[in-house]
Amino acid sequence: MRLDRLKIVQVSLPLIRPWRTAYGDHGTVGGVLVNACSEGDDVWVESTPFDHPIFCPESSTSVFFNLRDIFGPHVIGKNFDNTASVINHLSSFRGNPFAKAAIDHCFWALESVKQHKPLHKLLGAERHKVPVGADFEVMDSIDDLLAHIAQAIDIGFPRVKLKVRPGNDTEVIRAVRKAFPDLVFHVDCNGGYSLDSLSTFKEWDRYAMAMVEQPLHHNDILEHAQLQAQIETPVCLDESVKSVRDAELAVRNKACKVINIKPGRVGGLTASKAIHDLCADEGVTCWVGSMLESGVGAGILIELAMLPNFTYPADIFPSTRFYHQDLVSPQIELQDGFYVKASTQPFTGYVPNEDQIAQQTVRSAEITDQS
Ligand SMILES: [Mg+2]
Repeated sequence: MRLDRLKIVQVSLPLIRPWRTAYGDHGTVGGVLVNACSEGDDVWVESTPFDHPIFCPESSTSVFFNLRDIFGPHVIGKNFDNTASVINHLSSFRGNPFAKAAIDHCFWALESVKQHKPLHKLLGAERHKVPVGADFEVMDSIDDLLAHIAQAIDIGFPRVKLKVRPGNDTEVIRAVRKAFPDLVFHVDCNGGYSLDSLSTFKEWDRYAMAMVEQPLHHNDILEHAQLQAQIETPVCLDESVKSVRDAELAVRNKACKVINIKPGRVGGLTASKAIHDLCADEGVTCWVGSMLESGVGAGILIELAMLPNFTYPADIFPSTRFYHQDLVSPQIELQDGFYVKASTQPFTGYVPNEDQIAQQTVRSAEITDQS
């Protein structure tokens, strides 16, 4: 397969309300959409690392320029046998998984179209419908949080995830467990703690949470292994796993019992599938995480989440959860309260409205095959 043209669009989407985590409060989500053309076929994909390098060293700006000036020109016009060969071709460049993911997603989506196969089938999934979880950002009022959780339980969400940060944690966890003794829930620390908080993590064991997500430094594996050896609650890694190699190191060092897989963070669907398969072989639970993508990126998450070892409900949200106006039409909706359904079509079901994109565009560029 050969890419003939790439249209690269950096967007910044305003959230309905700020997303509050251990690394700050955010009113917008920055991502990059790519429209790729290959021999008459045409797809839209997305990679979303946020506006600034706060979740990881990449930002929507760095992804835009790396795609426009380096990665795009490096792949355009060349023939590739499969998606793995594309990623291999980019392997001379270090890091930058979100930028590489955009290229990887283009090839998977185009392959889906060319083979007339839904993307989840192309990835090897048999399921077409999975449950998702409910997520809540850091809130000032525990009563507000409990009310939101009660609503989620009424709808039937199979699990709840809470963002916590130092000073807004143990009291919240205790209140949630007391109010909902049987609730499956976990907390996401977004790397906000160190091993100095070991006694806090040990205290959390008594609340029987499903996991504690990314408790320590965003780049660490070994201290997570030290932590996992001393607490009962399963450790889930998110920010620390930026590649298949990171996942292998984490599993080998027993740094976690769970991995949250975000395609952008690990370099795309090819790496996501490899980590999913590694987890299946090693008995590590995994689940699909979100970067609050628009519906284009959410579509990719939905297709990925159909793989069989994603046994913990995903972070996949309806368009109305974060955005007044999503970029896709029709918008992403949950089915039967708390399920997402994969598309029955090749990857053409999550097409953005170009007028909506124009309203949110920061900058755009087009590169074509000059050969
Ligand atoms: Mg996380």
